[in-house]
Amino acid sequence: MGKMRVTTEILSVPFDVCTMDEAVAKVLGFFEDGRQHIVCTPNPEIVMEAQTDGQLMSILKAADLVVPDGVGVVWASQRTARPVPERVAGYDLCMRVLEEMAKTGKTAYFFGGAPDVAATAAKRAMKRFDRLKVLGAHNGYFDEAEERKLLQELKNNPPDLLMVGLGAPKQEKWIYENLRFTKVRVAIGVGGCFDVMAGNVKRAPKIFRKLGLEWFYRLISQPSRWRRMLRLPQFVLRVMTQKPTK
Ligand code: UDP
Repeated sequence: MGKMRVTTEILSVPFDVCTMDEAVAKVLGFFEDGRQHIVCTPNPEIVMEAQTDGQLMSILKAADLVVPDGVGVVWASQRTARPVPERVAGYDLCMRVLEEMAKTGKTAYFFGGAPDVAATAAKRAMKRFDRLKVLGAHNGYFDEAEERKLLQELKNNPPDLLMVGLGAPKQEKWIYENLRFTKVRVAIGVGGCFDVMAGNVKRAPKIFRKLGLEWFYRLISQPSRWRRMLRLPQFVLRVMTQKPTK
């Protein structure tokens, strides 16, 4: 029995209007109802991508929980009738969920990233969250045979939570196409989270996050992202020129 979802649409993408605590509770609830669930954490770049990628848009509309990973989304929601209360970053959501999972014996699987990154991320998570059960890890560069093997594993020995770090929107599409071949309960696209968890990439310092400038930190620390980030001003423009729905 699930509570009704309250969402607000930002450029047609429905975002759940909920706090971090509520998002964590929702994911934990997803473990219990016997169905399979998809969690997405779009930032403005992905919202923009979905404007021209119909498949991505359908996935975001079909997901069971969509939380705003970016201050841009929070800002945009303030122009709608139901603003979201806060940013719910994918990384923070994963950490909170893993913490709770460790207490309740739920199982996780880490899938994605360069060789060994997911495994290192898993090891570090187990160190941080005593008693966290990790069923396995797999890198994000695979051929068809490996993929089949992975799906078989996720069916025969399914984790409660499958974290998929293939980058957006590849991970969302992979989840949407393959979840039904597994018995995973909850799948979430985590982007580059394993790189951060493994200690290879640093999260923005707290001060940047507090000021809503994590995107700026990422731009200066990974300048190769500038092209993708051109989507940010486009996003702002689109939101500003849209008729307010308030
Ligand atoms: N990646 C992967 N397989 C691929 C392409 C990418 O596992 O075929 C991984 C890559 O190693 C990195 C992550 O996906 O860990 C993408 O990270 P990024 O920070 O770019 O995520 P995004 O911002 O797109 O969510």
